[in-house]
Amino acid sequence: MRTIHTDVLICGAGAAGLTLAIELARRHVDFLLIDKTTTPFGGSRGKGIQPRTLEIFEAMGVADRMVAAGGRYPAQRKYRADSGYDDVASVEAAAPSAAEPYGEPLMLPQHLTEGILRERLMELGHAPRYGHALADFEQDEQAGVSARVATPDGDVTVRARYLIGADGGRSFVRKALGIDFPGESMNARAVVADLSLSGLKDDVWHRWNGGGAQQISLCPLRGTPLFQLQMPIPLEGEFDLSDAGIAAAIAARTGRADIVVHAVHWRSDYAMSSRLAERYRVGRVFIAGDAAHVHPPTGGQGLNTSVQDAWNLGWKLAAVLGGAPDALLDTYEAERREVAAGMLGLASKLLDAARLRGDLRRGRETQQLDLGYPLSALTLDERAHDASNSAVLRAGDRAPDAPCRGAAGQPVRLFTLSGGGGWLLLRYEASGPSAIAGRPGLRIVDIGVRGELRDDDGYLRDAYGFQPGDIALIRPDGYVGVLTGDEHGAALANYIKWLG
Ligand SMILES: Cc1cc2nc3c(=O)[nH]c(=O)nc-3n(C[C@H](O)[C@H](O)[C@H](O)COP(=O)(O)OP(=O)(O)OC[C@H]3O[C@@H](n4cnc5c(N)ncnc54)[C@H](O)[C@@H]3O)c2cc1C
Repeated sequence: MRTIHTDVLICGAGAAGLTLAIELARRHVDFLLIDKTTTPFGGSRGKGIQPRTLEIFEAMGVADRMVAAGGRYPAQRKYRADSGYDDVASVEAAAPSAAEPYGEPLMLPQHLTEGILRERLMELGHAPRYGHALADFEQDEQAGVSARVATPDGDVTVRARYLIGADGGRSFVRKALGIDFPGESMNARAVVADLSLSGLKDDVWHRWNGGGAQQISLCPLRGTPLFQLQMPIPLEGEFDLSDAGIAAAIAARTGRADIVVHAVHWRSDYAMSSRLAERYRVGRVFIAGDAAHVHPPTGGQGLNTSVQDAWNLGWKLAAVLGGAPDALLDTYEAERREVAAGMLGLASKLLDAARLRGDLRRGRETQQLDLGYPLSALTLDERAHDASNSAVLRAGDRAPDAPCRGAAGQPVRLFTLSGGGGWLLLRYEASGPSAIAGRPGLRIVDIGVRGELRDDDGYLRDAYGFQPGDIALIRPDGYVGVLTGDEHGAALANYIKWLG
């Protein structure tokens, strides 16, 4: 059997696998990305991209492409029994601000999101290998992982230093590792389908029978001429998913003979459950995305959480392959499993609201901007905080953006500096040269009238709560690792030394 050697084998080229591949490609790590399907996924299912994910996509070089390809969420039109209707906002939309450049979620069907990620990966010189199924693997703590991959040309052996199971909710990798996947069935089953139809305008998200078993919605899919159908169906029994069956269900539930279904482009029937993997890591094998957590789609969290798992893991894998301590990889599970646990609770709460009141509105808590890693081993906060003031930035929080100026007076955003993939040490009005020695992957930026970055309008000062002499160390994934007023202290020096 032919043997291929690589540093990282990524199993699954969905949103999580593609994000991880881009992050490794940006850092010149050798990897192989495989998917058992012969062609990419073609449905709309995860169509909501949250503001925090847009920030990540900006750093990956794809946010503008995605915004150009998608569109805003339209208002929901809730039809009443008297044939009138009420229009209500679907999502909470805020104007872009200095600290948060993306004020609202983007609607982009999942297959378009994944297409743009593949395009970016191709620009970086890589592509997923379709028709390649992970069939078996074993690991040895010292040497790595040995995997058998079934390909159209027969089985090959892949020898990798790490294996990542980004292989979806039914994850082969998770099962092969024997990782428990506890949780509960949500006693809810639904159909999602992409349709071309006539009889409805595409300026609102149409909803009928809110809150009941007969509820149904047809949402115009931005970036396409299609509508996404969503409707609950009975838990038991066969549901007719043929074109005619779907058309009949729409007619029966809407009472509208003028809605004509011309074609069904993609359809799925799924039972909802809420589950979280007991572990995200066993030795040299990790799981990410739906492989590690599944939950109801209400709230639009799954794709976003999956992308952010990969975003968290990518730079850590690259760092450890480059010599950082293996313990850095343990922070992946510690940070991301806690976020997923919170997300499961949120999605269940929103499912209840949808079932009981037909309420599908998505608020700030779904936008993922307030998530962070305050309890992480990578979080060091030496500033005195007023515990009653939660508005003040803490270490572990998402690092806010800020419009600044370069030394020549040109506009510069902090995200442009922090999105490059390395660590960023911000020295605010520091006196004297930095106590931290330069090293690969760390950029030291002086802010002040003599610094390379000017904060004339005080956006950085306000967002970071900076006092002269303060230091913020921003992680490669855009979270604040360290906040301190003591650049010469042992804590900051040890932190940086530990990273290798
Ligand atoms: C109806 C519905 C609506 C949703 N709506 C939203 C939403 O609005 N917003 C949101 O954020 N999320 C939403 N989601 C969730 C979102 O679709 C998932 O969270 C997302 O697809 C997870 O990405 P992933 O990469 O982890 O897994 P997947 O997308 O499942 O990708 C896994 C990949 O692994 C491959 N694979 C599996 N086994 C193997 C193997 N042995 N060898 C090789 N390859 C393998 C599969 O072929 C697949 O391509 C929705 C989901 C559903 C079902």
